[in-house]
Amino acid sequence: MFNSLSDRLTATFKNLKGKGRLSEADIDGTAREIRRALLDADVAVPVVREFIAKVKARALGAEVSEALNPGQQVVKIVNEELVGILGGETRELRFAKQPPTIIMLAGLQGAGKTTLAGKLAHRLKSQGHTPMLVACDLQRPNAVNQLQVGGQKAGAPVFAPHPGVSSEAETPTGDPVQVARDGVAEAQSKLHDVVIIDTAGRLGVDQELMDQAANIKSAVGAHEVLFVIDAMIGQDAVATAQAFDEGVDFTGVVLSKLDGDARGGAALSVASVTGKPVMYASTGEGLKDFEVFHPDRMARRILDMGDVLSLIEQAEASWDQAEAAKMAQKFADQEDFTLDDFLNQMQQLKKMGSMKKLLGMMPGAQGMREQLEQFDESSIGRIEAMIQSMTQHERLAPKIINGSRRARIARGSGVHVSEVNQLLERFGQAQKMMKKMASGGGVPQMPGGGG
Ligand code: GDP
Repeated sequence: MFNSLSDRLTATFKNLKGKGRLSEADIDGTAREIRRALLDADVAVPVVREFIAKVKARALGAEVSEALNPGQQVVKIVNEELVGILGGETRELRFAKQPPTIIMLAGLQGAGKTTLAGKLAHRLKSQGHTPMLVACDLQRPNAVNQLQVGGQKAGAPVFAPHPGVSSEAETPTGDPVQVARDGVAEAQSKLHDVVIIDTAGRLGVDQELMDQAANIKSAVGAHEVLFVIDAMIGQDAVATAQAFDEGVDFTGVVLSKLDGDARGGAALSVASVTGKPVMYASTGEGLKDFEVFHPDRMARRILDMGDVLSLIEQAEASWDQAEAAKMAQKFADQEDFTLDDFLNQMQQLKKMGSMKKLLGMMPGAQGMREQLEQFDESSIGRIEAMIQSMTQHERLAPKIINGSRRARIARGSGVHVSEVNQLLERFGQAQKMMKKMASGGGVPQMPGGGG
């Protein structure tokens, strides 16, 4: 996410390290570097101009703090201004007083609308809502099918004009505005509290598409219109966003494909240029690759200051309280930490999502991106396979796992014996650590796992 921009900015700040006082020339030089970094990242020219003017004015004006050295001061100013161009406050969905809340998705074809519909439904469900999806993208072959698959994964029903569309090539016909109306009526009758309407996109902005979107919006009285934009589209982002802003007057922006290594800066300009907040970020094809966009946290990530808050929230969201309590009880009873427990912990970790993404939120992570790239996500899966290839007795008493048992486990799980050795060694260390904690009276706790 914004990797090269992040590298450039942190390198610029490094040059300021250790300087006792910043001269006007220092500030000029730094401003120039930041300007270049932003432009190279495709941030729109007017946005860059205003940004630099503000940073320079503040850095030159005696904004002195005793706690910070001049270099840190500049980082602080850049951070605050970055939060500003990203839209300032975090903005979440606004729900209608009278359900259902109607959310409509708009954007170019391929922006990620249909994928987003599933992610949004998944998130809303986890918050106790009962979303229904409505398929109004009747242009793109397979869009209805794709929405149905997404809805199924998210556990949300999908309203579509032809419920039985099965052939991939078949494009359902019908009037999208009428489908939207019918969909909302269906949601009302079935007491769904949120309706998510997927609309058609085209490769370029065109009037017919815009009119159709505007007609759907007014026909159903959408409460939120989310403009989905691919973070990788470069400088076109601003013009596209402006066209959609005029055409459908959207209420919020969703940046998609932020997982790609795109320069991403154009997407960063969208909030500034349209004055509409970025509400969500999509970071992959999976249902969980989706997060609320917090301008302040994103700025911290770009400046490699880490995003520990998001990390903690993800841990809280996926941490299984019941499992944590069971583990605590085991400690209290002074039971042994077994390979089953170890496997359980690994699985808990896996539920938190991609390790690469999690580690990427740590302060300083941008500086160790190469190591992160090498992190092997499949290693957790292999550990699972190895433990599952062990007998119950072996899992409870790993000491009995001798050479021939190791060879059998390796064969059974399709790994090399050295990996089994490594696993047992790591388990031994974990077991020792757990013993220490148990005897010290402390039970390892995850944030939010209060027992
Ligand atoms: P739509 O035409 O706007 O409905 O776009 P889709 O939802 O069909 O997405 C287009 C393509 O982008 C699909 O292949 C998706 O799997 C992919 N996609 C969507 N969102 C993301 C994302 O956040 N990251 C990545 N890497 N791919 C995405």
